[in-house]
Amino acid sequence: MREAIAAAQVGDDVFGDDPTVNALQERVAALLGKEAALFMASGTQSNLCALLAHCGRGDEYIVGQLAHTYRYEGGGAAVLGSIQPQPIPNQPDGTLKLEDIAAAIKPDDAHFARTRLLALENTWNGNVLPATYVADACELARSRGLATHLDGARLFNAVVASGRTPAELARHFDSVSICFSKGLGAPIGSMLVGSRELIQRAHRVRKMVGGGLRQVGLLAAAADHALTHHVDRLADDHALAKRLAQGLAALPGVTVTPPQTNIVFAQVSDGRGPALLEHLKSRGVLATGLIGLRFVTHLDVDAAGIDHAIAAAAEFLKA
Ligand SMILES: *Cc1c(COP(=O)(O)O)cnc(C)c1O
Repeated sequence: MREAIAAAQVGDDVFGDDPTVNALQERVAALLGKEAALFMASGTQSNLCALLAHCGRGDEYIVGQLAHTYRYEGGGAAVLGSIQPQPIPNQPDGTLKLEDIAAAIKPDDAHFARTRLLALENTWNGNVLPATYVADACELARSRGLATHLDGARLFNAVVASGRTPAELARHFDSVSICFSKGLGAPIGSMLVGSRELIQRAHRVRKMVGGGLRQVGLLAAAADHALTHHVDRLADDHALAKRLAQGLAALPGVTVTPPQTNIVFAQVSDGRGPALLEHLKSRGVLATGLIGLRFVTHLDVDAAGIDHAIAAAAEFLKA
């Protein structure tokens, strides 16, 4: 990847003449079966530009209570777009109930914000959304005049876990955001795909939020390398997540949700989660603790690392 970055042809992407960015945008648009794509600095920027391209001031978007777009992006849609979020509960598998979506869509009445968009996330907390669910939810949205956006920061994990193509997973959505960081291992970069017209609107927003970058072919080269070399190997991350889940589940007082992809959630009895996190950290194992313990496998983690993590957890829990 470092060599690809060093060798990248660059131009000024603010003027649209960086050949490496343009080639990557074409590659990703084709891969996801959409007309156009736009390089973004981050997944947050990509989701924000999508929301502001779909919705105007006083519009509303329906989103999961625990969706990244709603909960973990600084409230950007409301702060910068005057877009009202309408959060509804995420079911344990990450879906939003169709009846909840339908009930949240407002009639055309001066009392209400204008409901414009449904936003889903795949994978959500490492869960792959069921294919028929995605088709039904998007069909419901479309039948009520709503556009649809997919936060696909972890879409390639869903691709590898489900055996379906990126275009199949993107098919029902008007726009999709993907990330080259996270599991794909590029240092920086995301991309928004959609119709030419939508991407044109998102391009204006991207400039406004300071995301018009210059010789960004350096980053596009890293992302291109990640797409070529780091997608199929996500299966290794998924296998290691299973190995970690099995190892942790065998320890006293630990309950583990079997992972579908590369994120492992574990609950530890007697409120010992925070102390276990501290112990793991002292042994060089990093995890987060916002919702139970959350472990993520990725291309810098190998089987020896997983076994080390299990051994470190065992050392603490058996003490
Ligand atoms: C990480 C993530 C984002 C945001 O990506 P950043 O590049 O960190 O801004 C958005 N959605 C999901 C589901 C993510 O996991």
